[in-house]
Amino acid sequence: MIVVMKPEARSREISEVIARIESDGYRAHLSQGEQHTIIGLVGESPTPLREEHYSSMGGVQKVVRISAPYKLASRHFHPLDTRIPLNGSQMGDEKILVIAGPCSVESREQIIEMACMMKEAGATALRGGAFKPRTSPYSFQGHGEKGLQWLAEARERSGLPVVTEVMDTAQVEMVCQYADVLQIGARNMQNFSLLNRVGETQRAVLLKRGMSSTVEDLLMSAEYVLANGNKRVMLCERGIRTFEKATRNTFDVNAIPVLKALTHLPVIADPSHGTGYSEYVTPIARAAIAAGADGLIVEVHPSPEKAYSDGRQSLKPEQFKEMMEQVRRVADAVGRKA
Ligand code: PEP
Ligand code: MN
Repeated sequence: MIVVMKPEARSREISEVIARIESDGYRAHLSQGEQHTIIGLVGESPTPLREEHYSSMGGVQKVVRISAPYKLASRHFHPLDTRIPLNGSQMGDEKILVIAGPCSVESREQIIEMACMMKEAGATALRGGAFKPRTSPYSFQGHGEKGLQWLAEARERSGLPVVTEVMDTAQVEMVCQYADVLQIGARNMQNFSLLNRVGETQRAVLLKRGMSSTVEDLLMSAEYVLANGNKRVMLCERGIRTFEKATRNTFDVNAIPVLKALTHLPVIADPSHGTGYSEYVTPIARAAIAAGADGLIVEVHPSPEKAYSDGRQSLKPEQFKEMMEQVRRVADAVGRKA
């Protein structure tokens, strides 16, 4: 349920509504917009909610029942877009931000070289996995902390902030020492202990959609992070599993406008995992921006055929530059900048 206050509501009236919510056993979530203050009720309480108790209070314009199970992630609770600072820009404002780099951090030289190239091509942040969730236990699992140190060095050299995956609660503290954005991978989207733990930090979180998860599942996972006090959550559509075998995953372009309608959190598209083939990455990047995505995360490798992971879907640096050009044009056409 949300309580929408009248534009002229006084702060005393707002405080009275909050006190009432708390005495009914719920938590109050305050969202102050330009026009209206909205107070959301969060949590469970044995006290049944009676709309009329709130609608008759001073300064209240209306009371609205919200049927969605996510609250803090919902646009009803927080109508204005959330913006997350990244390298002097804000993920979620009119500028499209692009996170680019290799799937895995392979060596110190590789990640430093890639960081400088990505910066030059117009990326906002550097990606690279030091902990890799691989289907086979015999595949390259990442360089771990050494990889994180190389990422930090690449940040120093290029000025690009670092986005990297954290796979386990035990790694959160360590990854926070090196990363600017904590990536939660598709396979961990419903690792609730991990979501709780990253929610206790104030580090930005890039939450990827599970390959068999619905949009609502994704929003419920975001709710875990938000409910722990971390408001900096970006959602990532990275393709889902379907019967289609022509591509690695099926990029769900629908999810972008759906998420933009349901939530205030920024939405990022991953056309690399979404397609699995480098030749489809740029067309799907264009589609995602046209559909309203706030950013992209893209895999780039200097020699994709030699990549330790995800080479087939990795763009070469010159292809990435071309993608950026095309994305700029689409962004322009839909009233955004890139
Ligand atoms: C990745 O970003 O390299 C990755 C493993 O992504 P996902 O979790 O979406 O498969
Ligand atoms: Mn990858």
